Amino acid sequence: MEISEVRVKLVANKDDRLKAFCSVTMDNEFVVRDIKIIEGVGGFFVAMPSRKMSDHCEKCGGKNHLRAKFCNNCGAPLPENRAKKDIKGRMKLHADIAHPINSECRRKIQEKVTAAFKKEMEESKQPGYKPVEMDEPDDEIPEVIS
Ligand SMILES: [Zn+2]
Repeated sequence: MEISEVRVKLVANKDDRLKAFCSVTMDNEFVVRDIKIIEGVGGFFVAMPSRKMSDHCEKCGGKNHLRAKFCNNCGAPLPENRAKKDIKGRMKLHADIAHPINSECRRKIQEKVTAAFKKEMEESKQPGYKPVEMDEPDDEIPEVIS
C-alpha cells in the first residue's frame, strides 16, 4: 500500500492539543478521513479516526455515553467506571474506525501525515495561504496518547 495523498486542515485554536484534521488517500483508490494530529508530550501524534463507545441503560435500554452519570432517556443513575479498561488501566471510551494492523504500516502513515502537517504549517505562514476545504469532524481528543 502506498499513501498517494495527504490533505491537512490546520485547527486554528493555538492552545488546543488538537492541531489538525487529515484525510489520507491510499493507492489513489481509497480515502480515510478524520485522522487527527495531536500534540503529545513526545511530539506530534497521529490518531486514527475513532468513535465514542456507548452502552445501554439496564432499566430502559436507552443508549448512553460511557461517561454519562445518568441515563439520557429515563434519568436513572448509571454505574460509574463501567467502561472497559485497556492494558494500562485507562478507561476505553473510543474505538478505532480504521487503523493499521502492523507497526510498519503505522510508521508509514505517521511519517507521511506528520510530514504533510509540517509542510502545511510552513505554507500557512506564507501570505495568501488558503486552507484546504474539509469538513471538520468532532474535535474530541481520543484517549490513546502515550
Ligand atoms: Zn434509562
